[in-house]
Amino acid sequence: METILVQGAMTSEIELIIKLLAENNKIDITEHSGYSFYETYLNGTKIIVSKTEMGVMNACISTMIAIEKYNPSIVINQGTAGAHLRELNVGDIIIGEEAVYINNTRSPAKKTGEGSNALEWRPGNSLSILVKATSELVEKALSIPYEGKVLCGRLGTGDVFSKEADRIDLLHSQLGEISEDMESVAVYNVCEKLNIPFIGIRVISNNELTGNSDIEKQFEIAQTKLQLFIFKFLTELTDNSK
Ligand code: SAH
Repeated sequence: METILVQGAMTSEIELIIKLLAENNKIDITEHSGYSFYETYLNGTKIIVSKTEMGVMNACISTMIAIEKYNPSIVINQGTAGAHLRELNVGDIIIGEEAVYINNTRSPAKKTGEGSNALEWRPGNSLSILVKATSELVEKALSIPYEGKVLCGRLGTGDVFSKEADRIDLLHSQLGEISEDMESVAVYNVCEKLNIPFIGIRVISNNELTGNSDIEKQFEIAQTKLQLFIFKFLTELTDNSK
């Protein structure tokens, strides 16, 4: 039987999905090695909502645990992201056609007292992870109606929260990512290696390039919009009439 795994890093990124799923079926909560999993059904398909916790390492560990315990047939990673393009606004949705690791940096050598300048950092040769999402899932996600902008693009992932415009522009010119989050590429990498269809979908919650900074209210608005979109996507994926 099909099982869909839906991931979010923070409680606020999954609680509306869980609430909507609970309207039709009961939810069982389980914890494995400190990570929470909410098990339920939608249209007869098993749905596991997972709280991955934040960051690349947590995303890897919790995805591995979920695959081992639940053997999902589809993995959907979703949540908030910062914009790496000026034209992106809070609430815009990005379908992650691919994801790139943005933590892979190499600095020029500087001696004691010469300081540090992140604008001189370049991507290293090793660890250049770039992974493509499953194209059928990308196409399906693009067909879900949304009152707002939906675009397809490259997600950037690292254990960073960049708030310097020049650094963001440099990263974008080096790696081509249009947003920044802390989990996507980790999940992409695990799922690709283990042959499980996957997709990442992000909503812009902050744009440090235009001064729409990381304030709580914006996160809330963005998270609500995305979770409603994800619930529609789940409904479409589990629609037995198709
Ligand atoms: N209000 C939250 C903020 C978390 S920001 C808190 O107080 O903890 C980090 C999380 O949001 C990560 O899971 C990441 O995937 C996502 N995120 C949103 N905007 C981001 C940005 N500009 N850079 C990196 N991660 C971002």
